[in-house]
Amino acid sequence: MTTERAFVALGSNEGDAHAHLRTALAALDRDGCRVAACSRLGWSHYVGIVEGQRPAPVLNAVAEIRTSLDVDTFHARLHALEDEAGRVRDGRPERTLDLDLLTFGDVVRTDASLTLPHPRCLARGFVLSPWMEIAPLFRVPGTSATVVEHAAALRVPDPGPATDLEPAFAAPFADRGAACEVLRDREALDAWRGLRQGRVGVVMTMGALHAGHASLVQRAAAECDAVLATVFVNPTQFAAGEDLDRYPRTFEADCALLARHGAHAVYAPTAAELYPDGVAADVEPGDAAEGYEGAERPTHFAGVATVVTKLWDATRADVSYFGRKDAQQLAVLRQVRDRLGLPVEVVGCPTVRAIEGLALSSRNRYLEDAQMLLARKLSTVLEVLRISAAVCAAPAGAYSVEEDLATVRALLEKDSLDVDYIDVVDADTMRPVRALDGPALAIGAIRLGGVRLIDNRWIAPPARPHA
Ligand code: AMP
Repeated sequence: MTTERAFVALGSNEGDAHAHLRTALAALDRDGCRVAACSRLGWSHYVGIVEGQRPAPVLNAVAEIRTSLDVDTFHARLHALEDEAGRVRDGRPERTLDLDLLTFGDVVRTDASLTLPHPRCLARGFVLSPWMEIAPLFRVPGTSATVVEHAAALRVPDPGPATDLEPAFAAPFADRGAACEVLRDREALDAWRGLRQGRVGVVMTMGALHAGHASLVQRAAAECDAVLATVFVNPTQFAAGEDLDRYPRTFEADCALLARHGAHAVYAPTAAELYPDGVAADVEPGDAAEGYEGAERPTHFAGVATVVTKLWDATRADVSYFGRKDAQQLAVLRQVRDRLGLPVEVVGCPTVRAIEGLALSSRNRYLEDAQMLLARKLSTVLEVLRISAAVCAAPAGAYSVEEDLATVRALLEKDSLDVDYIDVVDADTMRPVRALDGPALAIGAIRLGGVRLIDNRWIAPPARPHA
């Protein structure tokens, strides 16, 4: 029996919206269908004004359904569920239940009954935002981009969430079988590892997990036979006065997220276990660690190199997944792996962003609303650098990295943002690049109140006609 992977957007703004969504999800979890994942539920403003008034906000979610039904039968099932929920089809904006089929397998079609992918799904923040939560790296059929890339490219104004996203569903999805085994000590880890066969992938985190971490777990789950996550707030990578003590700790929610996205186990050691001879950073991070983060936080990369080396050793992972959001960390760890000759593959994964461009980070939760607006400027100016390089770096060489850097620095400082650095560098060596004759990385770090944020974007000059 073939199983297709379908994504469905759910919405309700009439009657008991929660009950309508819950009933629909339960119905999509039987008779040849299974709910493989569901985003959190979030309220969004209705898009558009009807007769001078804004209709009631809509409760939205996106679910991934695995189904043995064919596309037309599945689509008819969605229609029937809308009818069962008492949906009145008279063009009014109130809907007890709206089920939009976003994609079905790799089907691309347009005919009288159905258009796939859904014609407006890539222009709606209230679809892309929850979709990004459950499948950031899913490549949308008929397009060359992933959900997260479409979300990053969304430029139409979106009315935004009407209230904060709500916590994940209670039953029946919270208790979906696949729990993530918690390994509290080295003995439990060794026992688990000893039973694993095939390729073991590890995703190392400090907890307070979000969709960025989830994307690493998903990538690992897609490429490995077993996926291990680690949650450890590593003291050696924090300097005195940094946020070690107040770093957010949300272990239970982390385990639920890890299980939802395909991790089989989570290793959560204590500092005493990982540092039996006392907390010290003794792995030399190498020259990629010298500038930027390394200059601002002089002991940071030795701490990262030490803990990652210890965890590579303890987990005996075949492959290790890291976010490209922490680009310098990735460069440093590749150097450490090469220098020590360790047999672990290091994979860099794309940065997951909120709809407005802000890179997701556990530290974003320290930001107040007004700061959140300012924080977005960092990704915006890095995007400006990217576009400017793509448009202006003509073969004639009329483009100046320095001028662009000065312009975007001024843009940030105009908003009284404290700029630690902003530069264009080689992604492997983390050395500044001035002649843009190939892809490079625009990197930046700012301070907002007591919070430090970093981000980066790939930039690439246009292809040269004679190259
Ligand atoms: P942390 O818990 O902050 O140490 O991050 C653990 C891993 O998740 C690191 O490899 C990070 O680079 C990665 N990560 C954090 N935020 C994101 C994001 N927004 N997108 C992709 N990866 C991320």
